[in-house]
Amino acid sequence: MSRFSPFETSLWYATAEPAPKTRALDESITADVAIVGAGYSGLTTALELARKGVSVVVLEAMEAGFGGSGRNAGHCTPTFTHYSLGELRKMLGEPWAERLIQRQTRANDRVGAMIRDYQIACEWQQNGYVMGALQPSTVRRLEEKVDEYNAAGARTRLLDADEAREITGSPRLMAGWLHEEGGHLNPLGYARGLARAVMQEGARLYTSSPAKSVEREGGRWRVATPKGAVSAEKVIFATGAYTVDGWPKLDQTFKIMRVFVAATQPLSEETRRKVLPRNTTMHDGRGDIYVYKYNREGRIVASMFPMGRRGRDLAYTRKVLGDRLTWLHPDIAEEIRWEYLWFGELDMQYRTVPRLYDLAPGVVGLTGLSGRGVPTGSMLGGILAEWAMDVPGKDLALRLEPQRAAPFYMGFGPQLSLRYHRARDWLEAKRAGAALPPHA
Ligand SMILES: Cc1cc2nc3c(=O)[nH]c(=O)nc-3n(C[C@H](O)[C@H](O)[C@H](O)COP(=O)(O)OP(=O)(O)OC[C@H]3O[C@@H](n4cnc5c(N)ncnc54)[C@H](O)[C@@H]3O)c2cc1C
Repeated sequence: MSRFSPFETSLWYATAEPAPKTRALDESITADVAIVGAGYSGLTTALELARKGVSVVVLEAMEAGFGGSGRNAGHCTPTFTHYSLGELRKMLGEPWAERLIQRQTRANDRVGAMIRDYQIACEWQQNGYVMGALQPSTVRRLEEKVDEYNAAGARTRLLDADEAREITGSPRLMAGWLHEEGGHLNPLGYARGLARAVMQEGARLYTSSPAKSVEREGGRWRVATPKGAVSAEKVIFATGAYTVDGWPKLDQTFKIMRVFVAATQPLSEETRRKVLPRNTTMHDGRGDIYVYKYNREGRIVASMFPMGRRGRDLAYTRKVLGDRLTWLHPDIAEEIRWEYLWFGELDMQYRTVPRLYDLAPGVVGLTGLSGRGVPTGSMLGGILAEWAMDVPGKDLALRLEPQRAAPFYMGFGPQLSLRYHRARDWLEAKRAGAALPPHA
């Protein structure tokens, strides 16, 4: 497991509600469906199925939320990363694009409902999401977002500079895109709450129980763990970037990209009145993204991608994070200390949308969430559960495809794309005479 970043160093590990009591599988059991991986995708699938009376077992190698689901930044924005809806439609074709767009843009309804129905204590706040514009070229892109997301049924609008400032507290924005349905949460608290809900609905969850192999036995699938086994009719791998063993070469269906999250000390009341006064999630609108909001203690929690020295040299990384924040919010009068800084892994895939693999009759694998997993993993449970309930492949919201290794260029493509967008922003800002943030 050493290829993954440490789990226990995050703010969420220090502050999330405790995990429900679970144990390792140490016997042979049967179920209708075995789900491998207790992140949002696996847990929400289990929840959907258990609510419908299906007998479900979830096997988790470590603990619920150990993967991206317990260590992400907690931004829950029901949109797609990287591509516009028009581009997605061209790439995925119909009916696939429209179905996925419908699920993704409504994903926060599901998140909100699960949190409400199971009283999950995870700091859920649905105060909206603002993507800012620091230069005119971004304003044009935001206008397009309003048109295409609203046409898909989302509630979004363009903010002028005054309103963007009123909502975010940043005097740097010349405009903003407000997505009213955006939210944020304590991701590990959410994962643990889902785990509790899954157990409450009667599904069996085993932790410290890695699936080591899956074999055909007596017309069913036998999923073996070090000390036990599950005999199931269907098997779902929802192991994401943290895939280890289980199914041959499933870990080659994506390429890992690292990302980091950091949290300041709890900021003063005075700062909190001026900076993100409504605790919206804020994206500063640059291709080299910087996204942030407060946790319940009043810490700013921000995420960025490593690039060059950033991410390698931790003192420099903290400086970049702080300089960007104080540039966006010159009102901050107190010293900013990044008390938590942790890393995690993303399962990057071409097209940056999840991929559903038809691994064998009765076995599927899902990977490639590509960094947008809080709403996405939460809605994917619906799709995976439909597959398990025998909805024909042609009617699912994700196309079932043969297992395929991610193209080699996914190993460096996302980093190149980040650098390209940073350079593009730099050039466009220079041309427009717009101010550039530090380290741009
Ligand atoms: C640092 C970071 C910041 C992020 N920020 C955001 C954000 O702000 N907003 C957002 O929407 N998304 C964000 N993401 C992405 C998001 O967290 C993920 O896409 C999402 O959590 C993936 O969920 P999942 O259920 O598919 O996989 P995971 O949560 O990774 O779960 C997979 C689970 O499978 C288990 N597993 C693997 N192999 C086996 C096996 N053989 N047997 C049993 N269990 C196994 C793992 O231990 C793991 O617990 C971020 C990710 C990271 C790493």
